[in-house]
Amino acid sequence: MQPSIVLFGGTSNGRDLAPRLAARLDVGVASDVSSLEWTNGKLSARRSVYSGKVFATVEISGTPAIATVRPNAFPAEEAGGGAAEVVQLAAPAEGKAKLLETKVPEAGELSISEADIIVSGGRGLKEAQNFSYVRDLAHAINGAVGASRATVDAGWIDHQHQVGQTGRVVSPNLYIAAGISGAIQHLAGMSSSKHIVAINKDPEAPIFRIADLGVVGDLFTILPALTEEVKAAKH
Ligand SMILES: Cc1cc2nc3c(=O)[nH]c(=O)nc-3n(C[C@H](O)[C@H](O)[C@H](O)COP(=O)(O)OP(=O)(O)OC[C@H]3O[C@@H](n4cnc5c(N)ncnc54)[C@H](O)[C@@H]3O)c2cc1C
Repeated sequence: MQPSIVLFGGTSNGRDLAPRLAARLDVGVASDVSSLEWTNGKLSARRSVYSGKVFATVEISGTPAIATVRPNAFPAEEAGGGAAEVVQLAAPAEGKAKLLETKVPEAGELSISEADIIVSGGRGLKEAQNFSYVRDLAHAINGAVGASRATVDAGWIDHQHQVGQTGRVVSPNLYIAAGISGAIQHLAGMSSSKHIVAINKDPEAPIFRIADLGVVGDLFTILPALTEEVKAAKH
């Protein structure tokens, strides 16, 4: 089998394996790509660089071309008529990493990496308990709860919810940012979301520059009202 392209998910394992395989095979690798094109026998990939400030298009010569793809960046395709050969390989049992502890997320909490909708809260929430405003909307809308680093650093919410340069990179269909200013490090984790709604009381907040819909106002009024609307629309 001589594959032209080998793709990995942009997960911890994928990001670890892809460059190792590329080094072994002496071929190129593009990491964290958000779109791919196969032209004239070469793979070109678009990836964000400098914390999402610009996009770079990179071309990989040689085969197989290897890439890790950003979670949720590609829609699921309808299954075609082809039949892929599935090869089961035994993974080596002994790894150099040891599992010390497994933390299970709270019941009913969706992971932000996989979620189609994310409702994120920032320092504008004022205190830990007020994450309930974000959770209520997220649960009503079947979304996951995201957070800015300021709230994680303050201990209001666990790091697994952090979106951004030092958190997770997400590309949901809908990203609702409430009380988040829109620092470049936060944008690096969510600017590839398909639709962005920002709620902020400061009309000059940088988050509005990338928002598809901006709501200037108090999140403590807007979030509960939105939650009620969503609940009412479901009945
Ligand atoms: C190396 C490095 C890595 C980083 N990595 C990350 C990262 O991964 N993710 C990340 O998020 N940040 C990251 N940061 C931090 C980043 O620079 C910002 O400090 C952080 O994102 C700010 O969080 P925030 O928007 O919640 O808070 P703030 O910047 O304080 O913004 C709070 C916002 O809430 C609004 N607000 C206040 N009250 C209300 C209200 N009642 N209703 C509506 N709006 C209200 C305010 O107008 C303000 O815009 C990183 C920084 C560094 C240096």
